[in-house]
Amino acid sequence: MKALICGAGIAGLTLAWHLERAGWEVELVERAAAFRDGGYMIDFYGPGLEVADQMGLSPRLRKLGYAIDGLTYVGADGRQSSRLDMPDSLGAIISLPRGDLARAILDDVKAPIRYGTSVQTVDQHGSHVTVGLTDGTTHEADLLVGADGAHSRVRELVFGDERRFVRYLGHHVAVFLLRNEALNRPIGRRYWALTLPGLSAGAYALRDGWLATMFLRREPDPALPDDPAATLRRHFGGLGWLVPEMLADLPDPREIFYDQVIQIEMDRWSEGRVVLLGDACQAVSLFAGHGSSMAMAAAWVLADELRKGETLTEEFREDGKALTADALRESGGALAAYERRMRPTIAHTQALGRRVVEWMAPATSRRIGVRDWILRAATLPGLSRLLLNSLTPGTRGLIGRRPTRLRDLG
Ligand SMILES: Cc1cc2nc3c(=O)[nH]c(=O)nc-3n(C[C@H](O)[C@H](O)[C@H](O)COP(=O)(O)OP(=O)(O)OC[C@H]3O[C@@H](n4cnc5c(N)ncnc54)[C@H](O)[C@@H]3O)c2cc1C
Repeated sequence: MKALICGAGIAGLTLAWHLERAGWEVELVERAAAFRDGGYMIDFYGPGLEVADQMGLSPRLRKLGYAIDGLTYVGADGRQSSRLDMPDSLGAIISLPRGDLARAILDDVKAPIRYGTSVQTVDQHGSHVTVGLTDGTTHEADLLVGADGAHSRVRELVFGDERRFVRYLGHHVAVFLLRNEALNRPIGRRYWALTLPGLSAGAYALRDGWLATMFLRREPDPALPDDPAATLRRHFGGLGWLVPEMLADLPDPREIFYDQVIQIEMDRWSEGRVVLLGDACQAVSLFAGHGSSMAMAAAWVLADELRKGETLTEEFREDGKALTADALRESGGALAAYERRMRPTIAHTQALGRRVVEWMAPATSRRIGVRDWILRAATLPGLSRLLLNSLTPGTRGLIGRRPTRLRDLG
């Protein structure tokens, strides 16, 4: 069996890792011109970490990761308004740049990757799928996997316009890495963030004087600006604390990740021999956390279903007539089984993400005050457990959520 995977990110590489060990012939295409290290910081835990354990990656990831003690919020004057120390109940969390996680998976993948290439055309013929690439070549595969992120090209080609599937969460986010010793030292091993109504600017200190920054801004218009650097300076340049220094020496515009904060919701994740994976069909957003963990878990579940060797899809059983989304999910094919297993967890995680928005990016000074009060109260002896038990699920999500386990995925 042959799989063509579009997108050599967390989900695509994890699927390649598993499929090639199950005897599949695998090839990946990746839009970026070369593998991209670095990127934004992610907290990695839950089912994805269990998958990484099974793949023997965890020791490497722990070495690459950063021990983050917790987070500190500051006001415009740079003074601490509240803090949260990482509770033991959170269990194992590895904080590391997204690119480092992807690199660790890539190191054990043998499948060839065509960089600087994407999918241009998709033709399904029942027994196989013919895929035209942007480099002019044509490929036949048993399965085409769209693991090309929240703005998936495969999804657009096979399922339709992105706007049908996007739930915009009302924010723009920008992240970039910066080398600055003078900023690195005061930040230390915590995540620091300045929050003002509708704005948040934060940073982690990395090794060798590097800093990982994150800027979050409430913005009713999802349209992205032409000049992200100028937009960042306009909205954040006048803030206090260390923000002016962070913006003083911005990296090359290509090194600034700037995007809408979105979730992807679809009523089906596969169509014939094309299946979507990771953010392409299930983006939970940075507000929900563990999107990379969910991407790895989904790749593990999809590989598991494909390994069982049952029919790939029953979509074309009815004399070429496509099954409805509901009928497809009820069918016995591997792609439907993958979707059945993953969907409830994704729906739950997305709902959590939507509840957390108000706490991660408070819109008003009053909300910021309530958040600070909750965090301060949570440090008092005896109150922390009471508070954790009595908080709304959304607030609990801010402080410490119990991650899904792999076994919850069936
Ligand atoms: C600021 C921020 C903070 C986050 N924090 C966390 C966190 O703390 N914890 C966590 O677990 N998750 C976090 N996430 C989410 C997490 O990064 C994603 O959920 C995860 O990366 C999804 O993996 P993926 O493989 O589906 O997509 P990606 O990792 O985005 O990979 C997609 C790949 O496809 C490639 N691609 C894109 N378009 C094309 C195309 N047309 N053709 C070919 N290739 C293409 C891309 O270059 C990329 O290599 C965060 C996300 C953001 C933006």
